[in-house]
Amino acid sequence: MHLSMASTNAYVQEQGLMKKAGEWLIKYGKNLFIVGGKTAWSKVSVVLEPSLKEYEIAYEVAIFAGESSYEEVDRLQKIVPHGVDLIVGVGGGKAIDAAKAVAAKLGIPYVAIPTVAGTCACVTPLSVMYTPDGVFIDFISHPQNSILTLVDGDIIADSPVSYMLSGIGDTLAKWYEGIVCARGHEDHVPTKLGLAAARICLETLTEYSEVAIKDMNSKTPSYAVQQITDTIFLSAGAVGGFGNQNTRACAAHGVHDGLTAVKETHQMMHGMKVAYGIIALLYIDNQPSEEIERVKSFYRKIGLPTSLFELGVKRKLSDEELSKIAHLALSPTSFMRFMPYPVSAAMITEAMKKTE
Ligand SMILES: [Zn+2]
Repeated sequence: MHLSMASTNAYVQEQGLMKKAGEWLIKYGKNLFIVGGKTAWSKVSVVLEPSLKEYEIAYEVAIFAGESSYEEVDRLQKIVPHGVDLIVGVGGGKAIDAAKAVAAKLGIPYVAIPTVAGTCACVTPLSVMYTPDGVFIDFISHPQNSILTLVDGDIIADSPVSYMLSGIGDTLAKWYEGIVCARGHEDHVPTKLGLAAARICLETLTEYSEVAIKDMNSKTPSYAVQQITDTIFLSAGAVGGFGNQNTRACAAHGVHDGLTAVKETHQMMHGMKVAYGIIALLYIDNQPSEEIERVKSFYRKIGLPTSLFELGVKRKLSDEELSKIAHLALSPTSFMRFMPYPVSAAMITEAMKKTE
């Protein structure tokens, strides 16, 4: 059995889209429950609310508490008013993941309004779950994807550049993890589709990242920013959307999960740690040094970390700490389980030593 849930039902990216969001939302519902990240909602509400009023769409807003945790999903689920026909997640990946988990529990369709280009959460039927303190637990799959994804290019361009940089790191992993993960499934059509999307991720990121980062620094909603935004959302989502477990995350995310053991990494953005995990993956997979060098030189151009040191861990980790990371990376819920061959703790610690 192979399940493909390729993407969101409808995806719109446009500058100034929030000003006419009501025109889109009314096609899917009239009674909304909005889960908004605090900062995200303060930005979006100014332009969205007049449009909701114009189309006579009723809505209630709950401010997202900050972590996509089981506790937060329970809290939100309890305050959804009777008669709501659409759940709307506004914000970053965590707010959207919590909103989709609420929607899935209640059997109500949901809309994603991402305000930062940090992950592909807006187009995937998964919620990554954390403890209320932000420690990764697992991810849950839902029976539905978003019915509508609205991306306002002006809002993305106005967001902190660090999110897009992190999104680039996370999306680059689609290719490097995808080709390793897919080994042995190359003739499988949904897997081929996933890999084709992964190749589009790699090519578009290689071509436009540098300019997009520069434009994000001056808050310019340029063509390069649009290209990278669509890649982080749509192309990245399609990789696992088509290929599912054959092209989803593996060792780069596995190492990311293991890094939970290092306190200094807790506040670091997901995609920055995944970018580091890609380098570790390339070493674990014994890839040629020219390939590893090529990836590192791309990182240096745009500002992704090529070592734990650059990631902000400004001390030499002891063997004991490295082994703790490796064992966490090998825990049963870690993405490391999607590697096509057994990975040992020694392979992980060896790879991590090579990155420094
Ligand atoms: Zn990721």
